[in-house]
Amino acid sequence: MSTIFSKIVLGIIPCYKIAEDDEFLAFLDINPLALGHTLVIPKLETDYIFDLDDDNLSRMIIFSKKIACKLRDNINCKRIGVSVIGLEVPHAHIHLIPINSISDMNFSKPKLNLSEKELLDLQSRILNS
Ligand code: 5GP
Repeated sequence: MSTIFSKIVLGIIPCYKIAEDDEFLAFLDINPLALGHTLVIPKLETDYIFDLDDDNLSRMIIFSKKIACKLRDNINCKRIGVSVIGLEVPHAHIHLIPINSISDMNFSKPKLNLSEKELLDLQSRILNS
């Protein structure tokens, strides 16, 4: 079964891409908890992040670090929070969330409703930094 994130990797579903390499892809979460909320996924479909082998998982964390640095440079926040949930989309992903307080990591709170223009502007700000 192909996940929605595999369809993003294949370009069947669009995304606001932040970065990619041969193995990983980073894109803006479509229903963000905070401005700049970004997902990092392995291109190879794997449901549970801790099923990734050690080398793969290490590279995914290092890739995520680069994205977190970019987010922190571009978004007014204290730091980048990191979370793994995976209850909605069965394709391993790391949430990178610009935060100012612990409540910014509360996945139960209402999501931001960003327009396409706001997402595009944010994407281009991060890509051009
Ligand atoms: P989780 O599986 O970690 O509980 O949550 C999945 C995350 O993926 C959610 O934050 C949700 O907003 C995001 N998401 C679900 N479908 C899409 C999509 O089609 N595009 C993007 N960019 N994000 C998505």
